[in-house]
Amino acid sequence: MSVLITGGAGYIGSHTIVELLNIGTDVVVIDNLSNSSLESLSRVKSITAQQVTFYEGDILDKALLRKIFSENNIEAAIHFAGLKAVGESVEQPLKYYTNNVTGTIVLCEVMAEFGIKNLVFSSSATVYGDPASLPILESFPASATNPYGQSKLVVEYILADLHHSDPSWNIACLRYFNPVGAHDSGLIGEDPNDIPNNLMPFISQVAIGKREKLMVFGDDYATPDGTGVRDYIHVVDLAVGHLKALDKLKTNCGLVTYNLGTGQGYSVLEMVKAFEKASNKKIKYDIVARRPGDIGACYADPKKAKIELNWAATHNLDDMVNSSWKWQSQNPKGYSD
Ligand code: NAD
Ligand code: UDP
Repeated sequence: MSVLITGGAGYIGSHTIVELLNIGTDVVVIDNLSNSSLESLSRVKSITAQQVTFYEGDILDKALLRKIFSENNIEAAIHFAGLKAVGESVEQPLKYYTNNVTGTIVLCEVMAEFGIKNLVFSSSATVYGDPASLPILESFPASATNPYGQSKLVVEYILADLHHSDPSWNIACLRYFNPVGAHDSGLIGEDPNDIPNNLMPFISQVAIGKREKLMVFGDDYATPDGTGVRDYIHVVDLAVGHLKALDKLKTNCGLVTYNLGTGQGYSVLEMVKAFEKASNKKIKYDIVARRPGDIGACYADPKKAKIELNWAATHNLDDMVNSSWKWQSQNPKGYSD
């Protein structure tokens, strides 16, 4: 039996595949390589000495999905494939809804055709909008402030309706907080195509000399040092969370939703300081205006995942920044090195 990984050549997918291969699970990947390169999967092979079955193509391609389900003995899917740049989603909403929402519908249609009704979905803490209080529980009201977040929320609603219509589906919606870090080997990590939107890859690129300085978006939030606070989670912890979610699906859990975060928030300036220590480089920065749509602070209450999945993050901030720096310094140009 195999697990289908959509978007498996990407950042979180490649780390999850390593953990799956390490426990002896066969993996089938579909990726259109729109935001990744095949090199990530060849690095996965170097780490694990194992191979995945790879299909280059789009989840919107129903014929290809049917071929994949016909040719492999798939028992569950982990659905990472999606576009994730908030700014781009504001400029090109239809592209985001087509890829993220229609893509998920096509995947679920084909899964249903083949009677495979076990799905783990990559959702995001962005579905909490600007929470009224902290830490954030799964029961908090959902809202979204941009088309990317809206696409995640709409998919969550669609999956809930799907499960309601056919309770034999088992679906885990995993709401990731802020994934950072890289595999211990330094062989796989986050490799943004363009100017990074996210804090950690931006800081890494300043440290490696690719960018001159970081823009810190606002220092007037109601946080201890005024800069934005987030719940950064090591990507390997996140990957392990997916294995636990797959175990949960085997218990016929129905539709379940979990926060995957550490429960601990760090400010932008704390992240800068930690990265300076890891890299032994000075990270130059300027304080600039708040980024439109940003919230002050966001961190998870991760207890539900602890109790129901037996999952908790084990990597601390030093592990996150040290592994990011190892990846960045070993691969200054990412996978194109
Ligand atoms: P990523 O861009 O590195 O990986 C996504 C992969 O999906 C890429 O390899 C891309 O080529 C592929 N892909 C995109 N659209 C596709 C399509 N239509 N058909 C086939 N392949 C397609 O992103 P990531 O950081 O690994 O994120 C994985 C998932 O987790 C995404 O759904 C993202 O929205 C979600 N998520 C990410 C974060 C984060 O900060 N990284 C936070 C919360 C949620
Ligand atoms: N941030 C920043 N400069 C950057 C990128 C991000 O100051 O170049 C801040 C951002 O305002 C937020 C935190 O870093 O407070 C995390 O931002 P990121 O985009 O990584 O995650 P998200 O805002 O989606 O949680």
